[in-house]
Amino acid sequence: EKFKDGLSKTRDSFVGAMNELMMDYRTVDEEFFEELEEVLITADVGVSTSMELVDELRDEALRRNIKNTQDLQPLITEKLSALLVKTEEETELNLQTDTLTVILVVGVNGVGKTTTIGKLAHKFKQENKKVVLAAGDTFRAGAIEQLEVWGSRAGVEVVKQQAGSDPAAVMYDAVRSAKSRGADILICDTAGRLQNKVNLMKELEKVKRVLTREIPEAPHEVLLVLDATTGQNAMTQAKIFGEATDVSGIVLTKLDGTAKGGIVMAIRNELNIPVKFVGLGEGLDDLQKFVPEQYVNGLFS
Ligand code: GDP
Repeated sequence: EKFKDGLSKTRDSFVGAMNELMMDYRTVDEEFFEELEEVLITADVGVSTSMELVDELRDEALRRNIKNTQDLQPLITEKLSALLVKTEEETELNLQTDTLTVILVVGVNGVGKTTTIGKLAHKFKQENKKVVLAAGDTFRAGAIEQLEVWGSRAGVEVVKQQAGSDPAAVMYDAVRSAKSRGADILICDTAGRLQNKVNLMKELEKVKRVLTREIPEAPHEVLLVLDATTGQNAMTQAKIFGEATDVSGIVLTKLDGTAKGGIVMAIRNELNIPVKFVGLGEGLDDLQKFVPEQYVNGLFS
């Protein structure tokens, strides 16, 4: 239900436009396919993904002798789903049972990184897991305090140092402290500066080295937070972060605030990184595990 509510803007505009296009047993001619491509691109499905989809549909329609939109509809739903669902497991978090799980959260300022960390902490806590947060964004003014606010909302501990201190030192403290308290999950905030790629890479590498020294497999997840309302900017950020570090999953925030939910398909198809969670609001409970089938159903039913 929540998923459906959160997608209402996308449903109204993207699916609304799709339905209009599909009406009245329209003949699926070249003009139709051009308009379909336009609708997909407008919904942020991405130019190359949209073109790929339309090419496949055009070929398949020809092969199966499909002449009108009514007969084409199930094929469209099927193709969009296939884009999102590669394997069932890929949206699962890599959680450890025998050691502390370390989750590094990266992304530029303003995308909803702090909020997402708070929501994740809340979610794990509800699953009876012991959670510690690491205030690794020592650069942005107010970032530490903001994380503390979310920490207290979720009822979890925050390990911090003063502003301006070395993020790697904060991580060292945090991982030691989380281990000694017998925590299950450590969620690490990082600075959201998208300076040049080399600096970003160096900073993330340094932080990761500290974590790996304490726990050989850490970080177990590197989650990149992207703002769904920023469309192609989000794609650019994903490319830069993807080149700077091994991103294991994406959290797509503010999906409730955009009519262009097609971005999920562009991310999956063009970046080959699974979307693991979506943000559907500003509250503690507004983070949902991303279930591709639910997403497609949420759009088309
Ligand atoms: P940060 O700079 O990346 O840490 O971003 P914040 O966590 O401070 O979030 C920036 C703004 O986005 C805040 O006003 C949040 O309430 C809002 N926000 C974060 N996630 C979501 C979401 O999923 N939906 C909506 N509607 N707003 C969100």
